[in-house]
Amino acid sequence: MLDSALAQVDPETSQIMRDELERQQTTLMMIPSENYASRAVMRAMGSVFTNKYAEGYIGNRYYNGCENYDRIESLAIERAKEVFHCEHVNVQVHTGSQANMATYYALLELGDRTLAMSVDQGGHLTHGKKQNFSGQFYEAHFYSVDPDTHLIDYDQVLEKAKEVRPKLILAGASAYPRIIDFQIFREIADEVGAYLMADIAHIVGLVAAGSHPDPVPYADVVTSTTHKTLRGPRGAIITCKQELASRIDAAVFPGVQAGPLMQIVAAKAVCFKEAQSFGFREYQRQIIRNCQALGQSLIEEGFEPVTGGTDNHLLLIDLTNKDITGREAADLLDAAGIVCNKNLVPYDKRSAVETSGIRPGTPAVTTRGMREEQMYQIGKWMAEVIHKGRDGQSTMPFEGIEEASATSGTHEGHDSGSVVSRIRAEVADLCAQFPIYLDLGD
Ligand SMILES: *Cc1c(COP(=O)(O)O)cnc(C)c1O
Repeated sequence: MLDSALAQVDPETSQIMRDELERQQTTLMMIPSENYASRAVMRAMGSVFTNKYAEGYIGNRYYNGCENYDRIESLAIERAKEVFHCEHVNVQVHTGSQANMATYYALLELGDRTLAMSVDQGGHLTHGKKQNFSGQFYEAHFYSVDPDTHLIDYDQVLEKAKEVRPKLILAGASAYPRIIDFQIFREIADEVGAYLMADIAHIVGLVAAGSHPDPVPYADVVTSTTHKTLRGPRGAIITCKQELASRIDAAVFPGVQAGPLMQIVAAKAVCFKEAQSFGFREYQRQIIRNCQALGQSLIEEGFEPVTGGTDNHLLLIDLTNKDITGREAADLLDAAGIVCNKNLVPYDKRSAVETSGIRPGTPAVTTRGMREEQMYQIGKWMAEVIHKGRDGQSTMPFEGIEEASATSGTHEGHDSGSVVSRIRAEVADLCAQFPIYLDLGD
């Protein structure tokens, strides 16, 4: 009904939305930070809660008429506390980046030292990158992964912490395929008298389901998105120890935000309810099993996952041995209906624009109901596209390298066109077997 209202008022927007629905239905969404929110979550996002200002917190709003906003925010908070076993939670914070900004704002003075995983090795923009507020307003220092194993080297983190004496240590990443040990991070933070902040934007669903160690007992503050593995609305939360509660809340509002997005808060309440179901725990386990199956399939094809595999929902594939950049590979895969992103690998020799890696993940395809068998097939398709899709010549080292570089990576070679378009059709077939949002779009 709402959809037909949109079509009448604004056919252009309606058409673009239909096209996007079709893209999401007929391609494999393998960007590990993306997912399909449920109908219930989307219903709450597109609700009357969008119409009201609710500046302030429960029982203390600036505007009148907020009874139902107090109720929905209380419900979201109560459920978030059940899911994360935390002492305090802020559900108003708009995005993962703003959650991090508010946390820095609450705990640090301008120019204070921070220590986080370096951004080109798997950390996030908001963990101290130069172009970001976190690199501009604070003195950002970084730990790196071990040059051989590509695992976090906790001894090096400790060494760095002793040398830098940061006020805040940040544990968490956007492109790290292994378990993060928050307990060791706590010990390191205690040793140098730093706050410990955990950013679980990517792994939050795994944490909620008990499939990844929980930072809440160890970290002073935990920030997270709600739209990645948690499968809720595009948004975020901050949990913290009780003694930091008023500082965190004040940093969010009035620190960095004014009116909360209460339709999103309502949708967060829905997603926290979904996260308490047995099905959700099973879903998170399947994400990991699927990711490991995809990794196995790619390893058989001669691909090299960073750290040799994965413990979570994503793989970081180093394409250095395949004579193709991450950018080219991601573009080819996209043309074949397998949408994943290019990514720097640790100690990458290429630029952030080109990169040497891709970062496929399994949250969204697992939401569609796909399992190991399908992941295995997707791995074979990815291999075929990367090996043969570029120009019809093999891109394996020592096989046809001259021809490969002579034809400059267009999709025009007849073989490449046929490989990519054949797999594009097979991908569409597979997607049709695992339908999603069947009842949307009319
Ligand atoms: C995605 C992500 C964020 C930022 O989330 P946005 O909602 O896009 O602002 C922050 N930290 C990490 C580790 C992330 O992966």
